[in-house]
Amino acid sequence: MITIRPIPAFNDNYIWHLQSEDQHWVVDPGDAGPVFKALGNSKLAGILLTHHHPDHTGGVPALVQAYDCPVYGPATIAQVTHPLTDGDQLSLMDHQWEVMAVPGHTLDHIALVLHTDEGQHLFCGDTLFAAGCGRLFEGTPEQMFQSLTHLAELPADTRVYCAHEYTLSNLKFALAAEPGNPAIEARMASASRIRAENHPTLPSTIGIELATNPFLRTESPVIRAQARSQGASTNGSPVEIFATLRRWKDTF
Ligand SMILES: [Zn+2]
Repeated sequence: MITIRPIPAFNDNYIWHLQSEDQHWVVDPGDAGPVFKALGNSKLAGILLTHHHPDHTGGVPALVQAYDCPVYGPATIAQVTHPLTDGDQLSLMDHQWEVMAVPGHTLDHIALVLHTDEGQHLFCGDTLFAAGCGRLFEGTPEQMFQSLTHLAELPADTRVYCAHEYTLSNLKFALAAEPGNPAIEARMASASRIRAENHPTLPSTIGIELATNPFLRTESPVIRAQARSQGASTNGSPVEIFATLRRWKDTF
């Protein structure tokens, strides 16, 4: 049985802390301080990384120095001891993991899928967010669209552990992109209550994202019409609709 908890870091990052009995791992430790605090006297067994951005990797040197633990992640990151690539299968914490390449936010971005008896758990870094997706810093719209499409094909009950608490601002955009979608309105109401109590809105699930995330809903007639009002062509491909939404969101 693996317990998964968020460790808040910086303004809105979540470092995901996985615990199986006395074994502790973290995903994307951008800052070592909150991890030391969460671990107390426990030892860190290993680190998993999704991409090279400093708010996901900045804590790695101090954690490795303190715990001498392995670091799994993209080969682009200097501290990685176990480079991961698309399709890799891993056995960590007595469970099976799968690696998916998801370029777009960065070119080196990977997602990690943990298989447990209770279902699948997706650690997707800055690729898929609750009701949103990452900015395109390095990749093309085509790459990001493909990456999101692959993630959307995971089972609907897959739990989604994003690396930032962006849910409310993403839902505001989702309502602009698809006005009148009752699932988005309901999610906005529940996420507002959760944030008012300062709790995380995550994890999400693939099923919730399929119903409310405009970047996974480029076939929706309402979204296509809204994208046209932002410059997409009348018979725009799903990639063009996606690219238009992403540009719109960049200045929303
Ligand atoms: Zn990032």
